Amino acid sequence: RAAALALCLAACVSRVRGLAAPARPGAPTVIVIGGGHAGTEAVAAAARCGARALLVSQRLDTIGEMSCNPSIGGIGKGHLVREVDALDGLMGKLIDEAGIHFRMLNERKGPAVRGPRAQADRDIYRAAAQAALAAYPGVELIEGSVDELLIDDADAAAAGAARATVRGVRLADGRELAADSVVITTGTFLRGVVHVGQESRPAGRYIRSEAREVEPPASALAQSLASLRLPLARLKTGTPPRLDGRTIEWDRLEPQPSSRPAEPFSYVRAGLGLPVAQADRLISCYRTATNARTHELVLQNAHLLPRYEGPGPRYCPSLTAKVTRFAGRDSHGVWLEPEGLSSHLVYPNGLSSAFPESVQQRVISSIAGLEKATIVRPAYDVEYDFVDPKAVDHALAVKACAGLYLAGQVLGTTGYEEAAAMGVVAGANAALAPAGAEPFLVGRGEAYIGVLIDDLVTHGTSEPYRMFTSRAEYRLALRQDNADLRLTASGAAAGLVTDPVRLELAQRKQRGATEARAALDAVRLGAADWLARGFAHVKADGPVRSAAEMMAMPETQLADVERVLVEKGALPCGLDPLAFEEVSISAKYANYLKRQDLEVARWRSHEGAQIPPSTDYRTLGSLSNEEVEKLEAARPRTLGEAGLIPGITPNSLTYLLAHLRSRR
Ligand code: FAD
Repeated sequence: RAAALALCLAACVSRVRGLAAPARPGAPTVIVIGGGHAGTEAVAAAARCGARALLVSQRLDTIGEMSCNPSIGGIGKGHLVREVDALDGLMGKLIDEAGIHFRMLNERKGPAVRGPRAQADRDIYRAAAQAALAAYPGVELIEGSVDELLIDDADAAAAGAARATVRGVRLADGRELAADSVVITTGTFLRGVVHVGQESRPAGRYIRSEAREVEPPASALAQSLASLRLPLARLKTGTPPRLDGRTIEWDRLEPQPSSRPAEPFSYVRAGLGLPVAQADRLISCYRTATNARTHELVLQNAHLLPRYEGPGPRYCPSLTAKVTRFAGRDSHGVWLEPEGLSSHLVYPNGLSSAFPESVQQRVISSIAGLEKATIVRPAYDVEYDFVDPKAVDHALAVKACAGLYLAGQVLGTTGYEEAAAMGVVAGANAALAPAGAEPFLVGRGEAYIGVLIDDLVTHGTSEPYRMFTSRAEYRLALRQDNADLRLTASGAAAGLVTDPVRLELAQRKQRGATEARAALDAVRLGAADWLARGFAHVKADGPVRSAAEMMAMPETQLADVERVLVEKGALPCGLDPLAFEEVSISAKYANYLKRQDLEVARWRSHEGAQIPPSTDYRTLGSLSNEEVEKLEAARPRTLGEAGLIPGITPNSLTYLLAHLRSRR
C-alpha cells in the first residue's frame, strides 16, 4: 500500500502542482494560518500571485484532512470546485487524483443545476494535497500553532484611536514570523470543544478514526482576535460515526455505482478523462435507510445529546433534527460511503447525532444491513468561535486591521468547497495588496464565489452557511461547465492563473465559443427548410430563423442543429467540441436568460414595495422552511428589508414580488 501511495503521489505532484514561479527577491511575505481546505488554496494562490507564501499549520501531516465526509462537490458546491479550478486552484485536481466514485447530480435536470460530486480516498486526498504543497514553487510549510497576531498600534487600535496593522504572528513555541499579510483559516479550531453525549473536551476536531486522536483547539489565537474587537460568536457542526466495513452486510444493500467513464473536475483534464490508474479503481457506494425503531431510539435518548451555545448546519442536519423536524416521515436515507480503497472505514452519510457511544451503537444496529456493524469512532459535535463575516470586505480583508484576511469556516461557512473558494480570494488579495495591485474581486453575476462572498459580507450569517444554486440570481449563466470561460481570463489578468496549459485551453475554448456563436447566427433558414431537415416542431408559416433561434426552442436537440451546421459547412475545422456545446447551451437558455435578467432588475427596482404586516409566509408555497422561519421572525416591512435577511434567496424575492403584485 505504501509503495502504491508513493507511486501515485509521485505521478500526481507533477499533475497537481501549479506553475507559479519561485517568489522573487523583495516579494511580499504572506502567512497563512491553517492547512485545511481554505488554507491550502490560500497559500497556493498567494504564491501564484508572486508572494513568498508561508503555511503555518498545527501538524503538517494533517494538511488537506477531510474532517467530515470523504467527498467533494455536489449541487452548488460542485460549481465552486469548478470555479476554484478555473482560477488554477488545487481542489479540482486533487479530487481527480483521489476520487473513487464520481457522479453528476441532477443529470436529468437542466445544465445550470447539474453538480459534479466525487467520493475521495481520504488518505490519497490528504497525501496529494501535502505532496502538491511541498513541491509548490514559492510555498514554505511550517509546523506550529499560532497563538498570537503581532499587531502594530494594538493598544491604540483596541481603544478605537487607530486602525491596527498586522505585522506577523507568534507561535506557541515563542517563534515570531514577520509578514506583510496574514490569512487566518483555522476552521473549527477557535476555542473548539468536541462533544460525545454529555462528555466534552477542548479540541478542534478528531483525526485518525482508529486512534481516536484529537487536534488541540486554538484558544490563544481566539483571544488575540477578541482583543482586536472582532465580532465573535459560536456555531456547532457534527459528523457521523465511522463504521467497520467488514461488519456491514453489503449484499443486503442497494448499490450506487460510480459513473463510468467518470468526468474529471479539472478543466485541464477536459476531454482526457481521469488519469488511467484512477479510472480503473472506481467503486460503488450503498444505500440503506432508518426506520421506525431508529426514530424511536433517537426520540427516547434526545435528552442525552450535548447542550450547545450556537446553532448547527440547517442543510446538513443531525439525525435527531431530521426525526423531530419531519415527524411524519418513517424513514430517512443513509448512504454508506467507503473512506478509501485500502481502508475498512465507512462513512454513514445521514447519521450524525452525538449521542453517548452506547446509544449510537443501538441506533446503528437498528438499521437494515448494519445490525452487526461496529463503530470504530463515535459521532461527535464540535462547537467553535467564528467571526461575523460583516467584519470583512469583498476582498476578505478585515476592515478593522490592515493586512489581515479571513477565509473558510472561521467566517461562518460549512464545507470544504466554500472554504476553498474563499481561500483562493483571500490568498490572492493578501499577496496583491502589499504589492500595490488592485484587489481580485468576484461579482455575483460572474461566479458562485461572488455570490458566496457577497452574501456573507453583506448579510452576515447566524448559522453555518452553505452554497445552493438557489442563492444565485444569475444561475442560468453560472454553470459548472463554463467556469473557465467566466473566470480564467480575469484570474490570469490578476496574476492568479499562471499555468500556460490551462490558459491555452481556456483561450482555445473562448475562440471556439466565438466561432460557434458566429456559426449559429450565420445559418438562417426559412420554415420550409427547417421542416425539410426534420425540425417537425416548426410551424410551416413561421419566420426565417437562425440556428441560434432554433436552439432556443425547447424541442430542438443540439445534435440536430449541429448536423445542419455541418451540412452548411458553417463549423470551422477543428472547432473545440466543448466550446460548441457551451455556446449551444447558452443559446438554449437565451430566452430564459433574458427573463432572468428582467426579473432580477424588477425586484431590485421594487425594493421599496411594502409587505403587509398580516402576510402569512407559511401559506406561500414557494418558500423554503428556512425562509418561512426567518421571514416570520423578522417580519420585514419592505422587499428590500426581506432581501437583507441572510438566507432569503433572490429567487424567493422574485416570488414575493409576484405575490405582492397579485394582491393589488
Ligand atoms: P479546516 O479544514 O478545519 O482546517 C483548519 C486548519 O487550521 C487545520 O489544519 C488546523 O490544524 C489548523 N489550525 C487551527 N488552528 C491553528 C493555529 N492556531 N495555528 C496553526 N494552525 C491551526 N462540512 C459540511 O459541508 N457539512 C458537514 O456536515 C460538516 N460537518 C463537519 C463536522 C465536523 C465535526 C467537522 C470538524 C467539520 C465538518 N464539516 C462539514 C466542515 C468541513 O470540514 C469544513 O467546513 C472545512 O474543512 C473547513 O475548511 P477550513 O479550511 O476552513 O478549516
